[in-house]
Amino acid sequence: MKVYNTLTKKKEEFVPIEENKVKMYVCGPTVYGLIHIGNARPYVIFDTIRRYMEYKGYEVTYVQNFTDVDDKIIKRANEEGVSTDVITERYIKEAIKDAEGLNVEPATYNPRATKEMPHIIEMIKTLVDRGYAYEKNGSVYYDTKAFPGYGKLSGKNLDDLIAGASNRVDVDTDKKSPADFVLWKPKKEGEPYWESPWSEGRPGWHIECSVMAKEYLGDTIDIHAGGEDLIFPHHENEIAQSEAANGKPFANYWLHNGFINVDNEKMSKSKGNFFTLRDIVAEVPYDVVRFFILNGHYRSPINFSRELMDAAGNGLMRIKNCVKGLNFHIENSEGEALTAAEEALVRDSAKFKADFEKAMDDDFNTADAIASIFEFVKFANTNVKETSTKAFGEAMLKGICELCDILGIKTADEAAEADTAEIEALIAERTAAKKARDFAKADEIRNRLSDMGVVIEDTRQGVRWSFK
Ligand code: AMP
Ligand code: ZN
Repeated sequence: MKVYNTLTKKKEEFVPIEENKVKMYVCGPTVYGLIHIGNARPYVIFDTIRRYMEYKGYEVTYVQNFTDVDDKIIKRANEEGVSTDVITERYIKEAIKDAEGLNVEPATYNPRATKEMPHIIEMIKTLVDRGYAYEKNGSVYYDTKAFPGYGKLSGKNLDDLIAGASNRVDVDTDKKSPADFVLWKPKKEGEPYWESPWSEGRPGWHIECSVMAKEYLGDTIDIHAGGEDLIFPHHENEIAQSEAANGKPFANYWLHNGFINVDNEKMSKSKGNFFTLRDIVAEVPYDVVRFFILNGHYRSPINFSRELMDAAGNGLMRIKNCVKGLNFHIENSEGEALTAAEEALVRDSAKFKADFEKAMDDDFNTADAIASIFEFVKFANTNVKETSTKAFGEAMLKGICELCDILGIKTADEAAEADTAEIEALIAERTAAKKARDFAKADEIRNRLSDMGVVIEDTRQGVRWSFK
């Protein structure tokens, strides 16, 4: 299995620290509002990578934090006149609901910064003791010049960073160097705070992730992941903190997803060009959003548009219709053993799984993996006939569903199942009307079904239906 490592800028063979185990940390959202569709991308992508690793036999410990102390959270709490806890509890709940909707497996741990204060203070103390951090007026800063590897992830040069930052008017004069960053800052009036040796205050954002990765996974982890906007400064600073405090390499593989853009600009809350996931799922189901995200390679930018979302919906429907047709065949046919010809076809169909794995082994190319599922669907649609055995239908169904499952694509979703009961009741009514030779009623029901996006086909095995 090859993965692209941002640290080395190469695709490398994945070798875990411990055989068959993967320790994975994914930076989670800052919880001051509903997640937008850009935030949904790392959720879906790193969940899919985890699922594929689990399929390959790895035991994955998956940690995704919630950043629950931040200026934006405080601002939101003040606007609503409530405590920051009310805001964070609310949006953590909503983020979990969205993750469930996207069929993201629950993380092994979801740590929160506010619950890790003693460990955060301990790591800052270690950095001060080891000469990598200094205190000034109640703040603690990381001394970037003390860490020789600073810039190794982002490829930035410390001198250039210093020169760039020195020109800024808002440069903090308590810092020894403008490239230094905050580990601890004193509270301002009305802000939440914690006691510490330096001041009553709160931690900077970067230190939280270094601490939570260490607490839940250890000093050196296999995979650290997040969106590509986090490479600098967030992940660069995490490396500087963790490696200086622990005296060991921090993460062996750094994985970053590309952006979801709107008109070729990153979707973000600060630019205001965002759609919350809730806005989107009011119109298209969650599983279409997941499928839309998986249709592109995770490192490529994807443009958000209604047309692409509709195309994803149509693609997913093709898979679901095939699964529905196979289930119909299984219910209405016989033959527990494959014929010789069917055995040969099942052997042929092994190539779709092989292509799927080849695509996923090459840096998780979900776009090509989905293409092999479509090939499988085409093969099943062509080869499963009314005369085929039940066993053949089952073999095709199992093969397609296994691949969909690895990508977290649900082949039968709850919304469709709810519709199913209604559709099947109408079909039964139409069959009864036809039997009673009430063709006007039968046609009227057919039209009603058509308005619901359902096409029906009268076959020798009974009425078969699918979505248009
Ligand atoms: P935030 O709440 O902004 O810290 O973002 C949470 C996660 O979503 C991080 O991994 C970000 O890198 C990622 N992210 C934010 N915006 C986008 C976007 N437009 N496209 C893809 N990923 C994004
Ligand atoms: Zn982080």
